[in-house]
Amino acid sequence: MPVDIPYINIHTHTKSTDSKHIEIVNVMVAHQPPQDGYFSVGLHPWQIAEGRWTEMLQEMEIYRNHPRLVAVGEAGIDRLIDVSIDLQNEVFQHQALLAESWELPLIIHTVRSANELIEIHRRLKPIMPWIIHGFNGRATISENYLRQGFFLSFGKSLFRPNEALKSALQICPDDRLFLETDDAQIDIIKVYEAAAAIRGTKPEALKEVIYRNFVRLFGERMT
Ligand SMILES: [Zn+2]
Repeated sequence: MPVDIPYINIHTHTKSTDSKHIEIVNVMVAHQPPQDGYFSVGLHPWQIAEGRWTEMLQEMEIYRNHPRLVAVGEAGIDRLIDVSIDLQNEVFQHQALLAESWELPLIIHTVRSANELIEIHRRLKPIMPWIIHGFNGRATISENYLRQGFFLSFGKSLFRPNEALKSALQICPDDRLFLETDDAQIDIIKVYEAAAAIRGTKPEALKEVIYRNFVRLFGERMT
């Protein structure tokens, strides 16, 4: 473990200017990767609505051997958009299989689709880790994910947490936990502080825990 353990931001849409942080910048397929640092690439459910999703899935191949690509996603299922669940399912599963064949973790966007995702995971039995990003559900939902082997990443909702979210964060085991800023203009350090307060621990201790998780899941990809 390095003396000065970096903060890990597992999912962000904006690269920070602080080079001491390790971040996974989300890139939607057909967009440019960042100039430096790690990134993930995926066809977001919102992009399916644009109609070119078959071409976009093919375009995923362009990124395949990029040295700084460390994850597939965000990909997922969103119940609040006007795209059929069957189609979202198909596009998601295609990317889940890409993650398997590229040997990369999968970063998942979900809106009210925990049951579908757990069911798909059960059926596909992926070897690569699946990370639910922006988790903001109840402890019963987090328990279902955890039982199935998912990782959970918490973010901006920790700044106005209800009791249900607090207990979901409290029951998440150390070795399944990540933190993120997503599309919010917040400092990842503040997310660590909020999470540490809810878990009754110190931000420094959380840094160790999450750094260890990052190395375990992404270590081979780090240069
Ligand atoms: Zn996102």
